[in-house]
Amino acid sequence: MIGKTRIFRIGTEYASYADIGRAAGTIIKEGGTVAFPTETVYGLGADALNPDAVGKIFEAKARPPDNPLIVHISSTEQLHDLVEDIPARAFDLMDAFWPGPLTMIFKRKEVVPEIITAGLDTVAVRMPDNPIALLLIEEAGTPIAAPSANRSGMPSPTTTQHVISDLDGRIDAVIDGGAVKIGVESTVVDMTSETPVLLRPGGIGIDEISDVIGKVAIGYLDRLLEEGEVARSPGMRYTHYSPKTWMVLVSGNSNSVVDRISKFVSDYNRQGLRVGLLATEETAEHIIADEIFILGGRDDIALIASNLFAGIRYLDGRNVDVIIADGSMRADGIGAAVQNRLKKAADEEFANR
Ligand code: AMP
Ligand code: MG
Repeated sequence: MIGKTRIFRIGTEYASYADIGRAAGTIIKEGGTVAFPTETVYGLGADALNPDAVGKIFEAKARPPDNPLIVHISSTEQLHDLVEDIPARAFDLMDAFWPGPLTMIFKRKEVVPEIITAGLDTVAVRMPDNPIALLLIEEAGTPIAAPSANRSGMPSPTTTQHVISDLDGRIDAVIDGGAVKIGVESTVVDMTSETPVLLRPGGIGIDEISDVIGKVAIGYLDRLLEEGEVARSPGMRYTHYSPKTWMVLVSGNSNSVVDRISKFVSDYNRQGLRVGLLATEETAEHIIADEIFILGGRDDIALIASNLFAGIRYLDGRNVDVIIADGSMRADGIGAAVQNRLKKAADEEFANR
């Protein structure tokens, strides 16, 4: 069994090389688990070609076994080892966005263990844009399977502290690379059909993708699947990003959002409930709540994305009875990912016109 989770702190560049080498050589190669920073969120990695090692990821996260993992690579050669039938459009996307927050789904080769793909004949692959992640994969000499390094269902981790608070003692090590850059997960696109299908909005906006390859179909939902509904991506069946505290999302036109939130806060307070507010700067200016986390200005959607999960976790730890989230930020580009995560994290949504 795993003892204490080791934290490799990246102090100097020199130390980082040594630590990453140790994590790769003594843990990943030996079938252990290492959490590491990517540009999107922290991932929990294991040798993608070792089914026992991959099993430890599912166990540590308590992840449902039918939710497949993304395989992370550091070179396009590794892609050819893992998948077949790569369409020309995929090469165009790789040229445009790799390394970066774009995951593509391809037909898998036999070498990919079933545990990674949850029995599907496809596999999700991406090349992360983070020097620590790339070096870890290179030094390990193997692709690394890595879902977000949180307990299943919880908000994704954007710092080492988040990883430790969810997984301490359940994983072998964390490489601390500070706060991540983007803060929401990768965009997932299924490349196996004639028209590629967007399965999850993420770090790269759909417009950026269709600028490169033309038409992309929308295959994701901003809600959980209903009973009996068929999943295009198995992850759509499960609760995600969700705090322990009850969370209410108020979305729509900015003026009506402010009015609605003010009313909710006073109603809750009158009932003796403590309210945490997760809001854009412009909304927060008009509201007094027991605890407030400001995400950023409505139009500074990259800043909002980078603060989103940290904000949800912060308010979840502030002993409030309800979190009210402001959904008045823009919804284009990475804003589609922000809106999607808020809707999925929330227990209730009130949409205003
Ligand atoms: P996570 O790594 O936790 O951010 O989740 C990865 C996402 O990619 C989940 O929503 C999975 O369901 C999805 N995914 C991974 N592999 C496949 C696949 N072969 N086909 C469809 N979706 C996939
Ligand atoms: Mg996840």
